[in-house]
Amino acid sequence: MRYSSETVERAIHELSKLPGIGRKSAQRHVFYLLKVSEEEVNALAQSLIDLKIKVRHCSICFNITEQDPCPICTGETRSRSIICVVEEANDVVALEKTGEYKGLYHVLGGVLSPLDGIGPDDLHIKELLARVDKSVQEIIIATNPSTEGEATAFYLAKLLKPFNVKITRIARGIPVGADLEYADEVTLSRALEGRVII
Ligand SMILES: [Zn+2]
Repeated sequence: MRYSSETVERAIHELSKLPGIGRKSAQRHVFYLLKVSEEEVNALAQSLIDLKIKVRHCSICFNITEQDPCPICTGETRSRSIICVVEEANDVVALEKTGEYKGLYHVLGGVLSPLDGIGPDDLHIKELLARVDKSVQEIIIATNPSTEGEATAFYLAKLLKPFNVKITRIARGIPVGADLEYADEVTLSRALEGRVII
């Protein structure tokens, strides 16, 4: 059914574009928003607008940040000799939660997926290779244990071979097909600790 208010329809239309939100949930959210105070709706709208104005990608590691380079890249306590390569910024959050990892990150921005037309040039691979200098001793490839994640890990390992650096892959503590971001801290810590040279 459609509502007689065009404004309501527009809000439903915009919300239903979000992942995991169909028309039904969008309707529910819109009716919730119609009930709450104007301040609350303004706060939500402003926070969304700020996302696009204030948040950017770190020009070194491509993590999301409000200051460039990001606090991890500039952090004095972070070890510069080790880079952990992940698919998305969410994975950085997951690994940071373990409190175990003290090195740097590199966010690829996805995985190789020929079926979706995502090739090496669509990921931040060139930028990763450019970061590998004498100070880097180890690169941990922490892509998800999915088919694409494994293929990407294999591809990166091959590319990184000529560099004089230890290349490791996180252990299979994470169930195959599961995402890093959904793994609990203990599982992630174990996967990091148990990493193997590839
Ligand atoms: Zn950074």
